[in-house]
Amino acid sequence: MTTPAPDAPLPWHGSCWKMLCASRTANRFPHALLVTGPAGIGKRRLVARLAHSLLCHAADSEGTPCGQCHDCDLWTAGNHPDYLEIGPDPEGPSDEIRVDSVRRLAESDALTAHRGGYKVIVIDPAQRMNAAAANSLLKTLEEPSPGTLLCLLCEQPSRLPATVRSRCQLLPVPAPREDEGVAWLSRQVPASEAGKLLSVAAGAPLRALEVAQTGQLAVRDQIFDGFAAVGHGKRDPLAAASGWNQYEPAILLDWLSGWMGDLLRLASGHPGPRLINADKSDVLRSLAGRMDPVAGHGFLRDVLRAKAAEGTTLNRLLLYESLLVAWMRITSH
Ligand SMILES: [Zn+2]
Repeated sequence: MTTPAPDAPLPWHGSCWKMLCASRTANRFPHALLVTGPAGIGKRRLVARLAHSLLCHAADSEGTPCGQCHDCDLWTAGNHPDYLEIGPDPEGPSDEIRVDSVRRLAESDALTAHRGGYKVIVIDPAQRMNAAAANSLLKTLEEPSPGTLLCLLCEQPSRLPATVRSRCQLLPVPAPREDEGVAWLSRQVPASEAGKLLSVAAGAPLRALEVAQTGQLAVRDQIFDGFAAVGHGKRDPLAAASGWNQYEPAILLDWLSGWMGDLLRLASGHPGPRLINADKSDVLRSLAGRMDPVAGHGFLRDVLRAKAAEGTTLNRLLLYESLLVAWMRITSH
C-alpha cells in the first residue's frame, strides 16, 4: 500500500486547479490526464489533491475535500480502496513499469469504484512504462469507464508513445514565479537561504526543499569542485568520474546542465548575464574563458541527451567518464 503525497495546495497551482474544477462543474472532466512539467514543482502534490477531492463525497465548490467524511479518513490513512498508484517495482530487476502492473487495469472490476464515487489511478512516472505496458494501457484508454480518472505523470511526454499521449488531456503544470517560489520556500527553510536554494534547484521549489533537507547543497559543491578542477586541467577526468559514481544521474545531470547553461550565457559575450548558479559565478567565469563555446553547445546537448535517457539501461560510471573526458577536451585549448 502506498501513502499518497501530501495534498496541501501550492500557490502556483491556482490556475491549473481552477481549470480542473471548472471542467468538473461543467461535467467535462477528462477520463485521462497527462500531467507534465519539470521535476520539483509539485505535480504529485497536485494529482494527490485532485484524487482526494474526487474521492471525498463532500468536497466544496472549490474542490477542497471536507476532511470529515469516511472517504477523507481512508485517504488520510493511505488506505482508500478507489485510489491506485502504479510505478516501477522497487524490488524488480529494472526500473521499468512492467506490463503486469498495467494489465490488472483490464481486469473486469479493476476500474469500478468500491465506494460509489470516483476511481483514481495514477501512473508515475509514466515514461517508465515499457512498450508492452504502454500497449496494455492503450486498451484501457480506448475504452474509458465512466467515473474513472487515469493520471499519467511525466516530465518528458515526448518519451510516451503518441498513441497514449493523444488519448489523454494534457495538463502542463507551471513552475512558480521566482518571488512566489522564494516566498513559499521561506516558510520551510531560513529565509536567507531560500533564494540560493531555489536557484540551485532551477526554480523548482519542492526540489529546492529536498536539496535543503537532504544536505544536497554540500554534495553539489563537491561535484562542482570536481567539474571545475577537470575544466582547469587540474584533475584527471576518470578520477573525478569515480568520485561522482555514488550519485544518481537524475540530479547530477540537472546540475551539470545548469552549469553548462550558465557557461554558455557567460561565453555569449552579453554583459552581465543572469546566472542560475550565481554563487559559483567567479569559477564559472574562469571556466567560460577556457571553453570553446561551439563545443560547449555540443556538450550541453550530450548532457541533455543523457538526461532524457535516464532510467533506461545505462552504465553510470561510463556515462560520467565519457562526459568528463569530453569536458576536459573542450576546456583544454
Ligand atoms: Zn471528505
